[in-house]
Amino acid sequence: MDLFEYQARDLFEKHGVPVLAGAVATTADEAESAARSIGGKVVVKAQVKVGGRGKAGGVKVAEGSTQAREMASAILGMDIKGHIVKKVMIAQAAPIESEYYLAILLDRSNRTFLVMASVAGGMDIEQVAHETPEKLAKIPVNSNDGISPELARKIIKDAQFPSDVAEQVADTLALIWKLFVAEDATLVEINPLVKTSNGKIIALDGKVTLDDNADFRHADHEALIDHSATDPLEALAKEKSLNYVKLDGEVGIIGNGAGLVMSTLDVVAYAGEKFGGVRPANFLDIGGGASAQVMADGLSIILGDKDVKSVFVNVFGGITSCDAVANGIVQALEMLGDKATKPIVVRLDGNNVIEGRAILNQAAHPLIQQLDTMDGAAARAAELAAK
Ligand code: GDP
Ligand code: MN
Repeated sequence: MDLFEYQARDLFEKHGVPVLAGAVATTADEAESAARSIGGKVVVKAQVKVGGRGKAGGVKVAEGSTQAREMASAILGMDIKGHIVKKVMIAQAAPIESEYYLAILLDRSNRTFLVMASVAGGMDIEQVAHETPEKLAKIPVNSNDGISPELARKIIKDAQFPSDVAEQVADTLALIWKLFVAEDATLVEINPLVKTSNGKIIALDGKVTLDDNADFRHADHEALIDHSATDPLEALAKEKSLNYVKLDGEVGIIGNGAGLVMSTLDVVAYAGEKFGGVRPANFLDIGGGASAQVMADGLSIILGDKDVKSVFVNVFGGITSCDAVANGIVQALEMLGDKATKPIVVRLDGNNVIEGRAILNQAAHPLIQQLDTMDGAAARAAELAAK
């Protein structure tokens, strides 16, 4: 999960990383009163989960609360690279003397953690890496050893930070390593880390990504989820422990096993070319044990998607045999009743396929069509979706 800047700021504060006062606002009124209570010059910052807000006009310095109000009303509702601004952060303004860059990330390709540090902060770090790679120090960190205060000092020295700030920047690096470990982050980035005119080091912008696989040990991370951005069907699927991903086509897909579902997506997309570019509407893996309840949950999620015009159930019977799956489908349709309204193409194969097909034939449900092959079923589902 990626955090908003104001959430990253709060985490920084919690772990002792130096930040300035900041508050989040969703209306111009709230922005004005936040600016008044912070006092003096403030910065109004669009809260969107995308970089380059400054260049896009989403970061503005205001002289006081009246101006902060005007700026907030201009920034709220703005579209920044496809993200609509629903919140702004009002932050105490800093007199900036220099802008630096500091980050720790999970470096998957090298199976390690990586510190990146540069005295050329404030701008796009990809650009620095590309044009002046000598200005971006990259130092791998062993997960067992971590970043001790001594190592932090060495890294910052190697990255050629000026000596007057080196100690403070090294302290900041050691602190963000602690945050990185304690919060199970995969990215903590500060850009810019600034030196103010009175020589203090402050994190002015934060980007943090938390590892969702570690959610079970962070009850407090639940509160950081942006529910307004979560697709309601994806949320329902998560609640039912189903692996569901919404796509933008018209054929709902249910399969057992990620590999089978992925190849089903390909086959449907290929078959759909003949029907005006019909495409899969989702990825839904019901896993190994496809009980009637699991099938009903899966079907109701997919039938609840208004973009879905037809459904393709593609199951290869293994430990859960085809007759169990067929019974699951029949019972699921009974449970759903009138809520099931779209044609469902079923292809069963594998363990107990004869029995499974017989169960569906006998049920003779008006919405169900059976086909024996994956290609044939994909073509039928695409054809039905195109109607
Ligand atoms: P980003 O463009 O999305 O990375 O947003 P940032 O938070 O990094 O802000 C962009 C730029 O705005 C920074 O590099 C600073 O130059 C400037 N900025 C941000 N906060 C302040 C501040 O408190 N005072 C001043 N003078 N400039 C700021
Ligand atoms: Mn930034």
